[in-house]
Order: sequence, then structure tokens, then C-alpha cells
Amino acid sequence: MPLWTLHCSACDYAQPGDQPAGVCPACGQPLLAQYDAVAVDARAPHWSLWRYAPVLPLAAGETPVTLGEGMTPLADAPSLARQVGVRRLWIKDEGRNPTASFKARGMSAAVTRARALGAAGLVVPTAGNAGAAIAAYAAAAGLPVKVFAPRTTPPAILMTIAALGADLQLIDGHIGDAGKLATAFANESGWMNVSTLREPYRVEGMKTMGYEVVEQLDGRVPDAIVYPTGGGEGTIGIWKALGEMRDWGWLRSDVRMPRMIVAQSSGCAPIVRAFAAGADRAEPWENPVTYAAGLRVPGPLGDRLLLRVLRESAGDAVAVPDDVTRDATRALSTATGIDAAPEGGCALAVVDRMVREGRLSRDAEVVVFNTGSGASYRRESSDLAAEARG
Ligand SMILES: *Cc1c(COP(=O)(O)O)cnc(C)c1O
Repeated sequence: MPLWTLHCSACDYAQPGDQPAGVCPACGQPLLAQYDAVAVDARAPHWSLWRYAPVLPLAAGETPVTLGEGMTPLADAPSLARQVGVRRLWIKDEGRNPTASFKARGMSAAVTRARALGAAGLVVPTAGNAGAAIAAYAAAAGLPVKVFAPRTTPPAILMTIAALGADLQLIDGHIGDAGKLATAFANESGWMNVSTLREPYRVEGMKTMGYEVVEQLDGRVPDAIVYPTGGGEGTIGIWKALGEMRDWGWLRSDVRMPRMIVAQSSGCAPIVRAFAAGADRAEPWENPVTYAAGLRVPGPLGDRLLLRVLRESAGDAVAVPDDVTRDATRALSTATGIDAAPEGGCALAVVDRMVREGRLSRDAEVVVFNTGSGASYRRESSDLAAEARG
């Protein structure tokens, strides 16, 4: 018996959790899983995100497809807190996951469900890290996988995808273009499309970041959570987790929920633009350009959900240019020893800007997500020339 049901995020559609699921068949918006209340002491004896199995889509007697994802460090970074001028700042280092990004979390959950439902194969469009993660989890599950990725994806990530045995197809264009090809391929082959929010389970894996932060802070929540946002699964997942914990009494009843802060690149900032305009949908961004590949998502399917998270959490959305991100990535790495991804640097730069503009209190305690690893983005000796001093 499944312990969850699937509900449309936009209309009244609902279905049982044990049936195949994509987007809402009535309105095309993402489906989200809902569980009965679960007690805090029901955590499972896994040293991975499956520690939270009672609140994840895992039926009784099933084993998850896992590579030890999750349980990443939350590093207290007092020198960065001083640099940007907030009371306290932590870095949640998602670069420590299998294939070096938080995408591992979502794929562990999605591939677990795909295998349980008897999928013949998997297909995904990616800006990079999702492709590496699905390649790893498909290999672990013994399933074939097809990955569509832009030619401009960082080469180290493309090499990882290929090394893990995925069928990699490079395309001209961005992840939106890759998404169209993936949909066509899924329709033709019958393989399962595990694109962002096109099935309900990746976001379930992502939400464990929220559970972990609360557990790592001894049941407290920070004042703000800053997430470098592309498709929106990280941000949506963390907010979903906090809501579940509050509803189930895992948080103190007088808790003030954190502000969710969306960090984007000025070269691709559809959510920042829509939030500033007070819109509840985002118009696709024309000509998306940023070297932070995970942020190059011009038309996310989760736009409504993201804008709702920002409204519900009294959050904010801020973009910074790539040169500011580059400096912040270096500052993050050299101040903490974490080999930060540009997306993590972007999130730190957004904190800095918000404090200077008075949009974030100097008294705030902030969690900044470093969503990947700098190693994935290094190209060749040209990068060394740029980074080496002297
Ligand atoms: C995918 C990705 C993002 C964006 O995450 P979403 O959940 O799509 O918003 C940020 N950083 C990195 C390193 C990524 O791979």
C-alpha cells in the first residue's frame, strides 16, 4: 500500500501514489506527493537521504536506488558572515553528493520509483548535472538512459555522463530545446521522462535538503535560505519539506518560517523578473547566457510554484552578473575550503547584494546552498591561466 497520494499543484486533480505519473493530466502543471502525518522519531536507519524514508516515496518492503546521496555538511562560515555583514552564515555543501551536485538526491528518488513502476528506460534533458546524476542512478538501477544536453555544457560534466554509460546526445541551444527533444524521444520510445517537475519524485528527493538543515540546526530554522535557482526543484522541495515539518509538529509551533531567496544570473533571470513585476507566471527569458550552467533555464515548468513559494515565505529574488558570481565563487572557496560551483558563488553574491541594499537584515542567520562542485566547471589550462596568480 502506498503511503502517499499525488495532488496537482494548480487544480483539484489527485491520484494514488502507486500509479505511473507525469504532469497533471487535467491541466499540465506539476504533481506533488502528499503523505499522512509522520512522527519525527520514525527516521530510518540509512546513512543517506533515505534516513527520511517514512516521508519519501518508498513503499513497504522496497529498497531504494541509492549511492549514498545526501547527509551533506552544513559548514558554519564566520568569515563569510563578516564579509557580507550578516550575523551568521552557513554553507550547505551539495558538491559532496555522488556526481558532485544535489541532482543526485532527486534522481535517487525518481529512479527508485521508475524502477518500481517497471520503466524500460529513462530520458532527461539537462544543463549538465542532472545528466551526470541520472547516468549514475540509471547505471545503479540497471536501466538504459538517454541524455540530451547543450553543446555548451561544461566538458567535465559531459565526460562524466558518457563515462557512466549514458547515451549522450549533444544539441545546439539551451535546456528548453533539449526538453523538447526529450519529450519527443519519451513519446516514441515509451521510456520515462524524468525532466524537472515532469514527474513528481525528483522534488521529493530534493526536499530532504530542508529536512537535513533543520536537523543540523537542532530543530531550528534559519531566517533565510538562499538557493541558486534554475528549474526550481531545490527551492520548491525545501519549502515543501518545511511545510511538512511544520504541519506534522517537527518544528516548534511558534517557529517563524525562513524567507526563501531565489538567486539567478542577470543573463537568465525569469523568476527575478516575474517576481519584481508581481506576476504569478514567468515569461521565458530570451537568449539565456550564463556560465553557471544550472541557472540557464529560461522557461521553467515550475514558475508558478516558485513564485508561490516566494509569496508564501515573504521571500525575494535577486540576480547578479557573472563577473560578480566569479568573484564570489572565489571568495566562498578561499574562505571555507569548499570547492564551490559558480551557482553557489551566485547565491553568496546575492546575500552580499541584499545586505547592501537593505533587503536582508544584518541580524539574519542565513543558509546558502553551494549546489555543486567547482571541479565540474573547470575546463583546461586556460582556466588555470585565469585563476593562477603571478
Ligand atoms: C540544477 C542546478 C541548479 C538549479 O537547481 P534547480 O533545482 O533546477 O533550480 C543550481 N546549481 C547547480 C549546480 C545545478 O546543477
